[in-house]
Amino acid sequence: MKLSDRINNIVEPQTIGMARKARELKAKGIDVISLSLGEPDFFTPDPIKAAAKKAIDENFSFYTPVAGYLELRQAISNKFKRDNNLDFTADQIVVSTGAKQSIANVMLCIVNPGEEVLVPAPYWVTYLEQVKLAGGIPVVIPTTVENNFKVTPEQIKKAITSKTKAIIFSSPCNPTGTVYTKEELKAIADAILPHKDIYVLSDEIYEHINFSGKHESIAQFPEIKERTIVINGASKGFAMTGWRVGYIGATKAIATACDKIQGQFTSGTCSIGQKAMHAAADLQVSSIQPMRDAFRKRRDVVYNLMKEIPGLKVNYPDGAFYFFPEISSFFGKGGINNSTDLCMYLLEKAHVALVPGDAFGNDNHIRMSYAAAEDKLIEAMKRITKALAELK
Ligand code: PLP
Repeated sequence: MKLSDRINNIVEPQTIGMARKARELKAKGIDVISLSLGEPDFFTPDPIKAAAKKAIDENFSFYTPVAGYLELRQAISNKFKRDNNLDFTADQIVVSTGAKQSIANVMLCIVNPGEEVLVPAPYWVTYLEQVKLAGGIPVVIPTTVENNFKVTPEQIKKAITSKTKAIIFSSPCNPTGTVYTKEELKAIADAILPHKDIYVLSDEIYEHINFSGKHESIAQFPEIKERTIVINGASKGFAMTGWRVGYIGATKAIATACDKIQGQFTSGTCSIGQKAMHAAADLQVSSIQPMRDAFRKRRDVVYNLMKEIPGLKVNYPDGAFYFFPEISSFFGKGGINNSTDLCMYLLEKAHVALVPGDAFGNDNHIRMSYAAAEDKLIEAMKRITKALAELK
């Protein structure tokens, strides 16, 4: 029995072997510090949990409209206005089972087989696989730590062909923590502007984990807004990864198309999750300030330790909760030739679980999440420093 080409073309995350090894070590009673996770180590705020409990008690248990119930989309519309000064009416919003599904919906709605989607690297790995699932061709644009992992307008212009359908990127970025400034976003918008058929997928899921000041969306530029699809959700900013709620703000045409696709896949996301999302959309950002402050403090603690490690090149991330240090100076030592080897070495030797940069489009790097308690982070940095020093 054969599986489809579609599924055979999708790569499995290389992190599976790492996760297995980490589990084996843990089962042997070894204290493995896991810094591989992409989720806040905080609990969902109480008002959100209360809204979900109330929804259960009030039997909010029936199918909702596919795009999400109207009052929720209205609340998200208000959130867009309040936090981003963006105008999206309720019929321009589609709520999905996580931002991941939001992106999948959009890819399936806009990409024809053979069309190209620009993906600046390092990227969130799912972008590539979802482009491929839609039959498209991901066109990776590399960036470097020296340029703070920012793609330039010149690079974008060069990569555009007659087949280019879209560009997708995240700011703040997973895995680099890079945050584009308003001026940089404007320059990207200007580079795309002459190419009328190119969409911009702006993944803003880390909006609230931004230490550089106000969040900036590329959709703020009127000349590009009609072609921009803003992707967001509650997972990262409101510590709601398990609730599985994300959404888009886009033109009515894109929203209607995503509604149509979603109607065949899920019939809309969980009704209780929608009520939780409604409470999150209504919450003022100040209510999650303690979490943001904790991430900022940890960022500085880790940065100060990491920049002292000989052989690592590290940027000072402005958002999200990741570091993405360059590690190629260790290649050729102790049988280590790539990011997976180094992660495996650090897991076995230092008992710290990280993610190879290969998974994000750059094999000269590793990703470290700092969504863990400060004492664990300090201990992990101690262990990593020692293990790397022993590599000859
Ligand atoms: N976009 C980026 C850049 C992410 O890192 C993630 C989760 O890791 C998502 C989207 C997906 O978020 P959700 O949990 O809403 O599906």
